[in-house]
Amino acid sequence: MKRPLIVGNWKMFKTIPEAINLINIIKAGIHKIADCDIVVCPPFTALAALSEAIRDTKIELGAQDMHFETEGAFTGAISPLMLKDVGCRYVILGHSERRQHFKETDELINKKMMAALKYNLVGILCIGETLEEREARRAFEVVKQQFDQSLKNLSAEEIERVVIAYEPVWAIGTGRTATPEQTEQMHSYIRRLLNEHYGDSIGERVYILYGGSVKPDNIAQLMGKPNVDGALVGGASIKAESFIQIVTNALPQELQDSPKR
Ligand code: PEP
Repeated sequence: MKRPLIVGNWKMFKTIPEAINLINIIKAGIHKIADCDIVVCPPFTALAALSEAIRDTKIELGAQDMHFETEGAFTGAISPLMLKDVGCRYVILGHSERRQHFKETDELINKKMMAALKYNLVGILCIGETLEEREARRAFEVVKQQFDQSLKNLSAEEIERVVIAYEPVWAIGTGRTATPEQTEQMHSYIRRLLNEHYGDSIGERVYILYGGSVKPDNIAQLMGKPNVDGALVGGASIKAESFIQIVTNALPQELQDSPKR
């Protein structure tokens, strides 16, 4: 089993004081947990403050999106260079809310992914089908298409710096989680795609997270599946207690209160 990776996507929530307050409670709540990697992705405006607040902790910083250019006349956009500058190590790309509300395509997401990797950011690629696509039995086809196009032209060395988040659109923010069986089925399919494209030894090392209404009471069952390496958490990541509990419950019982390494 890999060391679990839990990523909090704070979406468009939290002013700077609210973000600092939230991270301080999370810091206190997770300081005894040694065996889990934790990333928080606040809105752009809170990145600098959080970068400072998490200094000397095991929590890492991520952004929720970025432009693919380094700089230029792109009013309102943020570049990979700027994310590095503010202390980000991760960036979420292709979230379904970006695909839906901002009309992001796989081609654009691929450009962003290449740019993220060029600047040594870990790209968290979100892929997943809508309810309509699942009901039409097209879930695997849709996920394969997103996988192929968003990761086009990535080398084996680069894919190791990508995290894949399977996020069925029908489970995001709906309270309806994919069952552990549905999750494992899709994760093992994604793992197979990785192994086919990049070879087993590389494919096995890539992290595959599940996202979609993850809560303290369903994370353990999801993590119990062999191809679930962690979670991308939205709504439950902006409530300190539930995020702390998710991080705790993501670990096997014997590691939940292990001493700090
Ligand atoms: C998300 O925003 O990536 C997400 C999974 O949201 P939620 O946990 O609220 O479903």
